[in-house]
Amino acid sequence: IWRTPDVVVIGAGAAGLMAAFTAARRGSRVVVLDHAPEPGRKILISGGGRCNFTNRDVKPECFLSQNRHFARSALSRYTPADFLALLATHKIPWHEKKLGQLFCDNSASDIVKMLLAECDAAGVRLLTDVRVADVSRAEAFRVRTSAGEFTSAALVVATGGLSIPKLGASGFGYDVARHFGLPVITPEPALVPLVFGAGTESWVKELAGVSLPVKASCGKVAFEEALLFTHRGLSGPALLQISSYWQVGQPVRLDLLPGQDSGRLLAEVKASKGKMRGPAVLSRWFPQRLAQELARQYAPDRPVVEWADKTIRALAEHIHRLDMHPTGTEGFAKAEVTRGGVDTRALSSKTMEAQQVPGLYFIGEAVDVTGWLGGYNFQWAWASGHAAGEAVAAN
Ligand code: FAD
Repeated sequence: IWRTPDVVVIGAGAAGLMAAFTAARRGSRVVVLDHAPEPGRKILISGGGRCNFTNRDVKPECFLSQNRHFARSALSRYTPADFLALLATHKIPWHEKKLGQLFCDNSASDIVKMLLAECDAAGVRLLTDVRVADVSRAEAFRVRTSAGEFTSAALVVATGGLSIPKLGASGFGYDVARHFGLPVITPEPALVPLVFGAGTESWVKELAGVSLPVKASCGKVAFEEALLFTHRGLSGPALLQISSYWQVGQPVRLDLLPGQDSGRLLAEVKASKGKMRGPAVLSRWFPQRLAQELARQYAPDRPVVEWADKTIRALAEHIHRLDMHPTGTEGFAKAEVTRGGVDTRALSSKTMEAQQVPGLYFIGEAVDVTGWLGGYNFQWAWASGHAAGEAVAAN
């Protein structure tokens, strides 16, 4: 192994491997270090084992950051089409599932094998099971590890976020940033189920397992997708998306029948003069258990034909504007990603290099750029990794 490579990359995940072979292809001698026993473990479990590796429709609006424009440059220089071209050279089959989300036909391991093959072909040296003790800088960066010491002119930190600690997530990237004086936006769980505290909205637990399409909103942000009631609170794609924007104390508003006018539908039922009661009518539009719960809470126990118009209006109001008050999240153990991270205002948006520390780069989830659910987080990992890989090789 090289003790004095041109570049040391810490973290053999999506972003780190991309940066490593991008730099090595351009002539850099690159060593990648990871404390996990194997590279790319998050890739392997992603997308239910099929890795939702990108999204056809990548727009800057699909990324959260304190610095909204930061991701633009890297994303425009390494696009989903670029990643698809890479897949094509490795003959990896893929398909679009919904909403532009692209998945492997076979397995997420196709992606890891491809990244490792690229690293191998470019001459990257990859060391796993290596503990990194600390990083310092004099003339060059010095990385002390359980596999000895490495010295390099460039250091790329690609250690990801705090989500899923049992897979090797660590706050190492944030520690390195702070060590070199870079600010870190408080890391918090994102794309994570929300929970209700004891005694609040306890009826939700009765609905565990019920799923339906909704429009979920929080402040000005709204997502129309499936909602899932869980034993502890709310999940499903619509809620996971909202969780990335949600702050403690904010209500989450649900429209349980988006795009329809339940007041008009209920008035039609009343006008038809049938004998149906609330649960039977509501189960036309909602899963049985939810229909019963809505009727129990908001509808009189009489045939709809006997309901006052204001009762219908009040029920419709609840159906389209149901405010829920989560008290927290399921935490990093269940979060798909981490929002927050190394403050982008300290980095170059073109190269990912720390403005005050030449040669030091931060990429991927460690940075304060968080994508929506749907392949956006991997696209950020590829794009930021590519940007840093090109830049280190050019220096
Ligand atoms: P990671 O892929 O997390 O890689 C970080 C690497 O750094 C790891 O190999 C880790 O072992 C290593 N490391 C950490 N600390 C240290 C240390 N102290 N010393 C040495 N090495 C260290 N995103 C999508 O776009 N599509 C999906 O389908 C998708 N599915 C997901 C499913 C799950 C269950 C989870 C948890 C996440 C999913 N994501 C998905 C998010 C996506 O996996 C991440 O955003 C992406 O992996 C981030 O890439 P990264 O390279 O920055 O970090």
